[in-house]
Amino acid sequence: MADADKCALCKGSVPYKYVAMPEWNIKGVLCGKCYSQKIYEHYPGEHVRVSMDKK
Ligand SMILES: [Zn+2]
Repeated sequence: MADADKCALCKGSVPYKYVAMPEWNIKGVLCGKCYSQKIYEHYPGEHVRVSMDKK
């Protein structure tokens, strides 16, 4: 738990901790920036699909 306050990816400080998804195989917490990055990497179409929803 020594690195609990540091991002598992960029090793930066984590003002607000984001818990990584189990399938990401990341131990520890993520900063908002890396969390968003991982979301995008693992679920590239998720957000776009919502906004592209046809009326
Ligand atoms: Zn980070």
